[in-house]
Amino acid sequence: MKKLFQSILLFSFALLLPMGAAAQKKPVERGYNAIIIEQSKNYVEFLADDLLQGRDAGKPGGYIAARYIVSLLREWGVQPFFESGYYQPFEAANVVTPMRNSWEINPDSIACIKAEGFFQTRRMNNILAVIPGELTDEYVIIGAHYDHLGLQSDVYVDGLYNGADDNASGVSAVLQIAKAMVATGKRPLRTVIFAFWDGEEKGLLGSKHFVNNWDNHSRIKAYMNFDMVGRGPVEKPRYLKYFYTEAHPAFGEWLREDCKERGFIFEPDYIAWDRPIGGSDNGPFARVDVPIVWYHTEGHPDYHRPSDSADKIDYPKLLDITRAAYLCAWRMANEKEY
Ligand SMILES: [Zn+2]
Repeated sequence: MKKLFQSILLFSFALLLPMGAAAQKKPVERGYNAIIIEQSKNYVEFLADDLLQGRDAGKPGGYIAARYIVSLLREWGVQPFFESGYYQPFEAANVVTPMRNSWEINPDSIACIKAEGFFQTRRMNNILAVIPGELTDEYVIIGAHYDHLGLQSDVYVDGLYNGADDNASGVSAVLQIAKAMVATGKRPLRTVIFAFWDGEEKGLLGSKHFVNNWDNHSRIKAYMNFDMVGRGPVEKPRYLKYFYTEAHPAFGEWLREDCKERGFIFEPDYIAWDRPIGGSDNGPFARVDVPIVWYHTEGHPDYHRPSDSADKIDYPKLLDITRAAYLCAWRMANEKEY
């Protein structure tokens, strides 16, 4: 009887609540509403600040970016992925000649490089965090690289490569999605891993290192990648390239549905790809047949130039891409089949 009274009371409350407030009670909406434009700005502006000197992999600016990302994950209670913590350190080596610039992470290749005599090495760090799901052996991975091109002291006027679009924008999206998943207050069905790759600009080093050293490839249900999601071509500022693995048409259908329902300001170009191995950190995952979704807003005149700065980011567009990607990530983590 007491239970019946309680449910009548709850039902009456639900009727009294305005529609918006009732919708906010759904876990997916709680997460959605936690994604806010001020935080997109905060993350991009911090990571692309001159003080971080272009976030060069294995240099102090890169380490500061990593500390910042970890401090946010820890504050939200997103757990470290490794027993040792959030970091996955690895070594990279390069033969120093004016003609060659090829960084290697394979221990045998590193030994060969060191044998040649003229080499440089750097300590790089991937960052991985996890929200454990009900299924502890099925994974969804959401990632972006956080390194950029660093500092070139002999470039006239400004040799600082801030890398706001490439790829502070992508890092801000992954951070906000992690925060949103916590804000849902609901344990996902699958285990969700948040990844921030180092050394992408030197040859996808971080994502390659992770894929080469983690054997559960067949248990990764999907990998979502972000690389440059804050700008767009001059002639098509709302453009979004939405790459996804052709064998999973659901990835395209979900975005079509969400665009219709939410009226996002970006304009997606749906590109189903049989094996999306090119371009960014999706490559190492696609090569081991993990299904991919990859968000990318295309090149612009500031691409890989010191002028890729935080003030040129289209924040309303970045916000909507982040929200759309969160909805996709939520489905990747919770839909039984796709
Ligand atoms: Zn990039």
